[in-house]
This record gives sequence, structure tokens and C-alpha cells, in this order.
Amino acid sequence: MNEYKPCPKCEATGGKVMSFTWWGGLVGPKILTHVKCPSCGAQYNGKTGKDNTTGIIIYSITVMLLVGIFLIIAIAAVITLMTMG
Ligand SMILES: [Zn+2]
Repeated sequence: MNEYKPCPKCEATGGKVMSFTWWGGLVGPKILTHVKCPSCGAQYNGKTGKDNTTGIIIYSITVMLLVGIFLIIAIAAVITLMTMG
């Protein structure tokens, strides 16, 4: 019994969740169950056995939105502090 679905390209089993990716850092691949095939190197969703591109796009947009909201709050706080004094 394998923990993750077989590779969608070569049907090899034994894929492992990646510890780090450029788009998700350390957390993203764990959230999306982003598995790398040990045989052909294809990357896919270990839960669905399908391509993870949509998940990566949604994850990236969510992270960008959160960072954007954080920056707006931080800038607003700085402006408030500057105009108060
Ligand atoms: Zn493969």
C-alpha cells in the first residue's frame, strides 16, 4: 500500500512530498500534497494523482493577496504614525 497516488506520467509509485519548492517555499508543497515522482521526476498532487498547476496558481494568488493586504496595513500604520506626531 502506497501513501500517495502513482505518477500520472509513468505510473511509478513511491513518490515523496517535496520539502521545498520555488513557488510554495516550505509550506506550499505540504498543503497541496505536491509529490515528486522518483522515476521520471514529474510533480503532481499525491492525493488526486493529477497535475497540481491549478493548485499552485491558487496558492500563489492567495499568498500574494495576503502579502499585499499585510503591506497595505503596514503602510497605513506607518502613515498614521507619521501624521499623528
Ligand atoms: Zn513518473
